[in-house]
Amino acid sequence: MNNTKGYAAQSATDPLGPFSFNRRDVRPHDVQIDILYCGVCHSDIHQVRNEWGGSMYPMVPGHEIVGRVVKIGDHVSKFKIGDLVGVGCFVDSCRECPECKAGLEQYCDKGMSPTYNGYEQDGKTPTYGGYSTQVVVDENYTLSVSPKLPLEGVAPLLCAGITTYSPFRHWKVGKGHKLGVLGLGGLGHMAVKLGASLGAEVTMLSSSRSKEADAKRLGAHHFELTSDPGVFKKLAKSFDFVIDTVSAPHDVEPYLSTLRTDGVFILVGLPTEPLQVPGFSIVPKRRSVAGSMIGGIQETQEMLDYCAEHGITSDVEVIPIQQINEAYERMIKGQVKYRFVIDIASLKSEG
Ligand code: NAP
Ligand code: ZN
Ligand code: ZN
Repeated sequence: MNNTKGYAAQSATDPLGPFSFNRRDVRPHDVQIDILYCGVCHSDIHQVRNEWGGSMYPMVPGHEIVGRVVKIGDHVSKFKIGDLVGVGCFVDSCRECPECKAGLEQYCDKGMSPTYNGYEQDGKTPTYGGYSTQVVVDENYTLSVSPKLPLEGVAPLLCAGITTYSPFRHWKVGKGHKLGVLGLGGLGHMAVKLGASLGAEVTMLSSSRSKEADAKRLGAHHFELTSDPGVFKKLAKSFDFVIDTVSAPHDVEPYLSTLRTDGVFILVGLPTEPLQVPGFSIVPKRRSVAGSMIGGIQETQEMLDYCAEHGITSDVEVIPIQQINEAYERMIKGQVKYRFVIDIASLKSEG
């Protein structure tokens, strides 16, 4: 067993604090990863605070992991010691269902094993995430990371990047399309970068006037303040796609009205309240309301390779792990620019 340092929540109301636990020894197909950086996703907050229900404690969050391979099992063929690797939102799946066979492991019929706040495929071993010094993962659920890009900016690609890339690929978002991106946080800023890179005309829809210059710098062609009077009249029937990345409850009806005939509203944000979708907002123009969750292993690798080729990374604020509780509060206020990433060296050096 490998003694591992982490930060954990002991309950939905406790702040995160130091926690020590064991990782398994490498099995024949496992790689042991020394974690360098871990991104902070709003899903970490939802789960730490049990906003979705069913949270398990102690919880070591973190599913945007970048690190270096320090040990490999006897049958590992994809990685060698010293390789830079990533781990995203899940660490295993059944490998047999139609979804797994199609490379859609995130939708595994039997349930994938989330990187934390869940169980390994045995159904009883709890998983612990990347707010920790090391992790042991099957090579088939480990991604290869290019040394070309700054690693702290790569970590958020493992969730925020793939969650926006996957629906864009699925709906073939690109040249000739008008895309609205709702919410400029971790997912939103990757949606702007990737949407623009894929050739779409991107409009940022934000509740924060102060983010206008950043939105344009990130690649948005237009910026609209969602509280501006008359904004929805101006935008009516203009977008082919709207991707909704907002983490808090909000009214989606005005955004549906911004879609053209056959437009698709892609929901990736997961607030706790149900959406109100009036029939008259979608029926008359054959609009669709769709959801999308992260991406499969092969697609995540494709996204990492695409980002390496195009020089795309996340805009990050690197923090020591000791500032994690403060970072959560700032995220809830929409103040992150645009992803907090934990420098795991700060955990390794903690007494
Ligand atoms: P984040 O960095 O906190 O960004 C959320 C953004 O939403 C904020 O920056 C803000 O943008 C906007 N916002 C926040 N509160 C708002 C409010 N009350 N009204 C209107 N807008 C508000 O969060 P994130 O990490 O990007 O995650 C966003 C959501 O996606 C979370 O619910 C998360 O759980 C979910 N998620 C889903 C998947 C998936 O697979 N589908 C994967 C990862 C995360 P503005 O200031 O521009 O308005
Ligand atoms: Zn996430
Ligand atoms: Zn499966």
